[in-house]
Amino acid sequence: MITAKARAVDGPHKPFRETEIQRRDLDLYDVLIEIKYAGICHSDIHTAHGEWGPVNYPLVPGHEIAGIVTDIGAEVSKYKVGDRVGVGCMVDSCGECENCKKGEEQYCHKGNIQTYAAVDKYGEITQGGYSTHIVVQEDFVLSIPENIKLEDAAPLLCAGITTFSPLNHWGAGPGKKVAVVGLGGLGHMAVKIAHAMGAEVTVLSQTLRKKDDGLKFGANSYYATSDPETFEKLAGTFDLIINTVSAKINLDAYLGTLNLNGTLVNVGAPAEPLSLSVMNLIGHRRSFAGSLIGGIRETQEMLDFCAEHDIAPEIEVISADQIDDAYERVLASDVRYRFVIDISTM
Ligand code: NAP
Ligand code: ZN
Repeated sequence: MITAKARAVDGPHKPFRETEIQRRDLDLYDVLIEIKYAGICHSDIHTAHGEWGPVNYPLVPGHEIAGIVTDIGAEVSKYKVGDRVGVGCMVDSCGECENCKKGEEQYCHKGNIQTYAAVDKYGEITQGGYSTHIVVQEDFVLSIPENIKLEDAAPLLCAGITTFSPLNHWGAGPGKKVAVVGLGGLGHMAVKIAHAMGAEVTVLSQTLRKKDDGLKFGANSYYATSDPETFEKLAGTFDLIINTVSAKINLDAYLGTLNLNGTLVNVGAPAEPLSLSVMNLIGHRRSFAGSLIGGIRETQEMLDFCAEHDIAPEIEVISADQIDDAYERVLASDVRYRFVIDISTM
């Protein structure tokens, strides 16, 4: 067993504390990664607070992981010691179902094995990236391109792929009008990626507080959703809306801003159910959809796309002692735009 230092929570709204966790000895296809940076995703907060259902505590969150390979199993062929690698939201899947075979492991019929708070094939509860080391089988490890810094790579492994995948799937590109709701961790990546894909991008944020940033990230326009006139002005405008908001919003107001055949994709995952009036879909043949992270192949594509287009997240690097404060700031929408833990401070 490999002992790793980690930060864990013992229950909803409990502070993080120092701990040690055990990582399994390397199996044939396993890679041992010394973690250098771990991003803080709002999903970590939903999970740590038990909002999505019961959690086995103590919990070590973290699914935006970047580090260096320090050891490999006997049969590993994709990575060698010293490689710069990443791990995102999942660490395994059945590998045999239709979706796994298509490279859409996130939609595995048997359920993908999440990086933390899941039970893996060894019967162990998975623990995430707020820790110094992790062992992951090579098929779920990503290669980080040379020109992406490790601290910048971390948020791409969730915020990057979760926005890249629906933008890709629904064809964001030249001639397409894309709106991004919520300019947080996911939202700011959505703006940068959609802009790089060639789409015309609008940010819909609660206020105009971050307007300068949004325009700098590549948005063509920026509106405050607290202003009711916004929804009148934008009626029937967008081909695609990516909703990244972590809380319940009035979907009907946003659906009204979709053009004929437009789609509103929810990636934000609030615990409460959202409701909508089907009349808002029927009237303009609109769709309401969801999207979960992205497959491993697509995640590598996203990393290569970001490398090629010089796309990096805006990050604030924090020490391991600042995780509780960072959670408070994310909850207050006071994040610009992703907190990343420097694991050397652990
Ligand atoms: P985040 O950094 O907190 O960003 C969310 C943004 O939503 C905030 O910055 C804020 O933007 C806006 N917002 C927050 N509360 C709001 C409210 N009450 N009303 C309107 N807008 C509000 O969170 P994140 O890490 O980007 O994650 C966003 C959501 O995506 C979370 O629910 C997370 O669990 C989910 N997620 C889903 C997937 C997936 O695979 N589908 C993957 C990762 C994360 P403004 O200040 O600009 O309004
Ligand atoms: Zn995430």
